[in-house]
Amino acid sequence: MRIEYDIKLGFKDVMIRPKRSTLKSRSEVTLDREFKFLHSPITWSGIPIMAANMDTVGTFDMAKALSSKKLFTAIHKHYSLADWNVFASNLSEDESKYIAVSTGISKQDFEKLNDILKFNTNLKFICIDVANGYSEHFTDFVRQTRKLYPSKVIIAGNVVTGEMVEELLLSGADIVKVGIGPGSVCTTRIKTGVGYPQLSAIIECADAAHGLGGQIISDGGCSIPGDIAKAFGAGADFVMLGGMLAGHDESGGKKIEKNGKTYKQFYGMSSSTAMEKHIGGVADYRASEGKTVEVPYRGEVESTVQDILGGLRSTCTYVGAKRLKELTKRTTFIRVAEQENQTYSE
Ligand code: 5GP
Repeated sequence: MRIEYDIKLGFKDVMIRPKRSTLKSRSEVTLDREFKFLHSPITWSGIPIMAANMDTVGTFDMAKALSSKKLFTAIHKHYSLADWNVFASNLSEDESKYIAVSTGISKQDFEKLNDILKFNTNLKFICIDVANGYSEHFTDFVRQTRKLYPSKVIIAGNVVTGEMVEELLLSGADIVKVGIGPGSVCTTRIKTGVGYPQLSAIIECADAAHGLGGQIISDGGCSIPGDIAKAFGAGADFVMLGGMLAGHDESGGKKIEKNGKTYKQFYGMSSSTAMEKHIGGVADYRASEGKTVEVPYRGEVESTVQDILGGLRSTCTYVGAKRLKELTKRTTFIRVAEQENQTYSE
């Protein structure tokens, strides 16, 4: 047994210090970024915020709404090939830039991925997603996928440490997804005791990825727009959101009416709800590692997106970053023992 005594930080442990700035208004800030990738020859531009590949968030409807704002969606892996064929054949060239096909690492997952990509050659991003990206089998799968798809952009995760980010990039990933346990409906830390505070995971993994010319996605743990700004400030190239995009018209999950109020169901992909829906129940050798919750219904996702982007532009003006790209260079985190004032709630 070993103990690392360095304290690791989450979003709640820091704030961003304001800096003298020449920007007059948040309208001067651009949130667009352009990326070239380590392996894929594709160049991508857009606002690097993405919907998580959960069946309550990463839906076709969400992708339609977000792509119109140049935001990205990792589509969940439970749509059928027939669903994909209809959806992808109706995508414009521009819309297809903002969409990833998700896959697990089983034989059936791989066959389905190959079929989806064979019939829909306009799709450019593959998201290989497992809860625990530390297995050798996972790295082998990334290698095999890269061999078959030299020009697609491959996202792989999840991990939380620099050495595994490097290993995945060297195995063929362009972008590594970072986050174990911070998610709003995740119970991994409760069930297993495993995890890594997200802000430190981003700082360490971004450093490793950027050293090799790769990118990272901060995945999970953002519950307010300020957290997204902190994730970018820490060095994330993309930020992935689950809970912040749940509860909308475009989100999946049942609508529930209760005591005169409307809610939508939201659940983790390893929750018993998801496992019952997709694989007929929780296998007896494993525990559910996700919650099922009801979140207040919030209408169209467009107003939430506006709120998020407005907040992020404002962060940039507070530190004098004219472009989102500059935010991390202009970020000084201060360690704090308080966050927002909670006297009143809206
Ligand atoms: P959020 O933005 O809601 O805080 O986090 C979303 C992320 O939580 C997802 O992108 C995914 O990485 C993670 N996640 C989703 N479902 C589950 C689950 O059932 N268990 C765990 N451990 N993580 C989950």
